[in-house]
Amino acid sequence: SIAVIKDVLGGKFAVGETVSVRGWVRTRRDSKAGISFINIHDGSCFDAVQAVAPNELNNYQSEVVKLTTGCSVIITGTVAESAGKGQAFELQATAVEVVGWVEDPDTYPMAPKRHSMEYLREFAHLRPRTNISGAVTRVRHCLAQAVHRFFDERSFYWISTPIITTSDAEGAGELFRVSTLDMTNLPLTEQGKVDYKEDFFGKEAFLTVSGQLNVETYACALSNVYTFGPTFRAENSNTSRHLAEFWMIEPEVAFADLEDVAKLAEDMLKYVFKAVLAERADDMAFFAERIDKEAISRLEHVIANDFVHMDYTDAVEILQNCGKEFTYPVSWGTDLQSEHERYLAEEHVGAPIILKNYPRDIKAFYMRQNDDGKTVAAMDVLAPGIGEIIGGSAREERLDMFDKRLDEMGLPKEEYSWYRDLRRYGTVPHAGFGLGFERLVAYVTGVQNIRDVIPFPRSPNNAEF
Ligand code: ATP
Ligand code: MG
Ligand code: MG
Ligand code: MG
Repeated sequence: SIAVIKDVLGGKFAVGETVSVRGWVRTRRDSKAGISFINIHDGSCFDAVQAVAPNELNNYQSEVVKLTTGCSVIITGTVAESAGKGQAFELQATAVEVVGWVEDPDTYPMAPKRHSMEYLREFAHLRPRTNISGAVTRVRHCLAQAVHRFFDERSFYWISTPIITTSDAEGAGELFRVSTLDMTNLPLTEQGKVDYKEDFFGKEAFLTVSGQLNVETYACALSNVYTFGPTFRAENSNTSRHLAEFWMIEPEVAFADLEDVAKLAEDMLKYVFKAVLAERADDMAFFAERIDKEAISRLEHVIANDFVHMDYTDAVEILQNCGKEFTYPVSWGTDLQSEHERYLAEEHVGAPIILKNYPRDIKAFYMRQNDDGKTVAAMDVLAPGIGEIIGGSAREERLDMFDKRLDEMGLPKEEYSWYRDLRRYGTVPHAGFGLGFERLVAYVTGVQNIRDVIPFPRSPNNAEF
């Protein structure tokens, strides 16, 4: 029967049973006794299964000894207890069928050695074959499944929010335009400028920067909802934590305040960390060995401890008095940079930290004003090694306060009429947050650059595949 390697190694087949595995050669090693040890992986788990194959197996001019890394094969054999270290089972091969040879093995770009992440990024179509890419892919999958399960268990509904949206004040400057116009015959305004108002069948349209405003509408009816989808930001920067296309998880909860969603964020992170440690122990062991020796202990520590909460105002004082020279000095009212976020998480606390109650003027128009008149009920979750992984807030649900804020910011009421309706008809306190999925995967794996935790990174220098 055909078997996946995970099941062979996991002991699903009895010793002596005949099975066929299908996959790719990771390595091959010859012994003096005329035997080849072929390691085959098929993506079902981190490990490869070892097939012990006599070199003369297929014919006298054996194909076995010509197998190189990357060849695709179907190997049939009997399951045997393995004498080698690390694995309980191996295959005593009785037939080796070569499905696809590797042309020019000496120049195969994914030769079995450690490649730099930069190098692998140039081969987005071949890097899935590497150990690291396989491990990232399985962990990413596990985290996504765990996120959906977490919300399902708490009776949240998953809402698809639109990719194409009209302008919103939050993403100004980072918006990708969506156009249906004929670029060789663009409509012009009276002033002779391109009339972008005609972009999308007569309206201006953009790729979404966040599903939040949309998901709020469903929270104000179904109580607990979340969206998990792609978002787009024209970040023309080359940081290791910004992509032009990334995935975001955005829960939104009715009858909730900031403390409620801070707790939700903590519970969610702990839940998905537990899931990945339990379900992807093999891949996490690889990350701990190869990428970051604290990959596992860091998650265990987070699971075992309460999150530290801190007010923005206190954080500013800590940053000012910590004696560290920052590139950007901090004063009350300035937005924190990643160097500040990382200091607080890495050096001050040594774990993720929830920073709350930011100055109103550096935060979005929809955030709920606190009674002090200066701050809003906003939070960021800051993680060691990365900085911000979550941004959230209570939303301003009071119509009079919301209108005042629009006026102050010079935003036209007409454009927010649907959003104002939520405040006019049975308004309710509600709150939510956005978790950047790639930042989560980077934090879990210890991989430094988020370009390496998404299958096809989109950033100023990565859009080829
Ligand atoms: P940053 O300050 O790092 O630029 P932000 O405050 O602009 O992030 P939010 O608008 O709060 O980001 O978005 C919510 C979350 O989405 C962030 O906490 C982060 O995890 C993630 N995120 C934001 N921008 C990007 C990006 N360009 N690439 C990947 N993830 C991102
Ligand atoms: Mg940003
Ligand atoms: Mg930010
Ligand atoms: Mg933010």
